[in-house]
Amino acid sequence: MAFAGPVIGRYNARATGNLLSHYAAPEPNVGKIILFLVLAVAAYLFIRGAMRTKRGDTRADRHAETPAENMKACARCGVNLPRSEALEADGNYFCSEEHRRLGAK
Ligand SMILES: [Zn+2]
Repeated sequence: MAFAGPVIGRYNARATGNLLSHYAAPEPNVGKIILFLVLAVAAYLFIRGAMRTKRGDTRADRHAETPAENMKACARCGVNLPRSEALEADGNYFCSEEHRRLGAK
């Protein structure tokens, strides 16, 4: 039994070795895959960063284009809301009917 153990072990080792070599065959490529993934992620981050700056610019432009008078602060709670959604009363703007009822602070 003491002899069978190593034999089985060796056999298993050889079997797993074969299996590993089967798996290990693409192992040198794992480095390439990781390198490719790193490059892909780097490219993705770079493109996303470029897109974000572009988007940020458009967002800034949109923000600049949005006239300030289109946003009104609720006279009660100060929340900003579009002029079209604001409720007006006595020259004050409110976010809701309730705040209009409660009046300016
Ligand atoms: Zn309010």
